[in-house]
Amino acid sequence: MPDTAQKKRIAIFGSTGSIGTQALDVIRTHTNLLEVEILTAQTNYELLIKQALEFLPNAVVIGDESKFDIVKDALSTTDIKVFAGEKALEEVADFDTYDVILTAIVGFAGLRPTLKAVKKGKVIALANKETLVVAGDIVMQQALQFRSPIIPVDSEHSAIFQCLVGETRNPIEKIILTASGGPFLGKKPNFLVNVKRDHALQHPNWSMGAKISIDSATLMNKGLEMIEAKWLFNLKPAQIEVIVHPQSIVHSLVQFEDGSMKAQMGLPDMKLPIQYALGYPLRLKNDFPRFDFKKYASLTFEEPDYKTFRNLGLSIEALKAGGNKPCVLNAANEIAVWAFLKNRIGFLDITAVVEKTMEKISFIEKPTLDEYFETDGEARNFAASLIKM
Ligand code: NDP
Ligand code: MG
Repeated sequence: MPDTAQKKRIAIFGSTGSIGTQALDVIRTHTNLLEVEILTAQTNYELLIKQALEFLPNAVVIGDESKFDIVKDALSTTDIKVFAGEKALEEVADFDTYDVILTAIVGFAGLRPTLKAVKKGKVIALANKETLVVAGDIVMQQALQFRSPIIPVDSEHSAIFQCLVGETRNPIEKIILTASGGPFLGKKPNFLVNVKRDHALQHPNWSMGAKISIDSATLMNKGLEMIEAKWLFNLKPAQIEVIVHPQSIVHSLVQFEDGSMKAQMGLPDMKLPIQYALGYPLRLKNDFPRFDFKKYASLTFEEPDYKTFRNLGLSIEALKAGGNKPCVLNAANEIAVWAFLKNRIGFLDITAVVEKTMEKISFIEKPTLDEYFETDGEARNFAASLIKM
């Protein structure tokens, strides 16, 4: 086993969330190989303090500046550096002292710190898919320029990444992203119109943060993942397909030019793709429950219901248009999901808000980074005006 000097130092941005806490579970079982260097949270200072006292990182960031004093006091007996506020995320992303950043912040807020880490040439374990949805061209171009490897954490993209190991000389014919279908698989608009927050949050196979749970229920998550896949694997829209696979055992597939298909399979457990990204290129031994064919009478696959789950069609439109369209789609969706979680709009209104915002905001074919930020702001304001928040 490697000694301490060779341990990978991990920065977890969004350590108090679903991905962040599972990443700490992974690190806890591989303390001989992995150690925590940075932890960040937005508001959950209590959990951040608890995590910091257990893992003793070099630095922590609490986004909510009003909680700075509490965190600082709680960690005063340690050497842990404490920072607060949005800017601090970029400051710690600029540190030399970590090897891998796990981007587990939710939403557009993940973009700036991720870009900072890319410019440092760090290894990016990318969970925050919104980063690539919004500004995939700039992120990928900078990753190439600064030699910053991007290892996907999203289970579908991790699956494809794993299928591509050893295939560098073999072009991809197409990829197939699997979708569980979410909690409302098979339901029609007359049912969805009355769906409430708590029901939509109950995903059948995965336990995730609130935003991605709603995105899974509306199928926006799969739309975002199509755009994420385009950038990660340098694909044309026509090379990206979606198939509904309710059991979530086949995590996605690649088809090569000889017609052969590779799939990556396993039980639905985010700890596996998180561990793969942190340990890459090694597969670290673990005792996670194993998939057993005998317990699954059948694995099934079906076409998505594009007519009911219109977010998928809107995402494909954004994927094909490129430019700032995906940024608009993402911003409007973040506002609409937030409003749905606050019981301000209905389930089907999420799609309506996204659609109207996409119609409204001017198209920019090749946006600069500043233009992405402007587009994000405009789209949020317009979406919010529709909701009258
Ligand atoms: P959660 O909502 O569970 O966690 C989000 C984390 O980000 C928390 O630590 C939160 O802090 C922090 N955070 C929230 N808002 C901000 C902000 N504005 N600035 C800085 N930090 C912030 O999300 P998930 O873990 O579910 O998802 C994280 C990312 O990973 C998302 O992009 C999601 O799409 C992606 N992903 C998640 C999967 C999953 O299984 N959960 C699967 C695949 C991808 P606090 O706790 O203090 O609010
Ligand atoms: Mg996914």
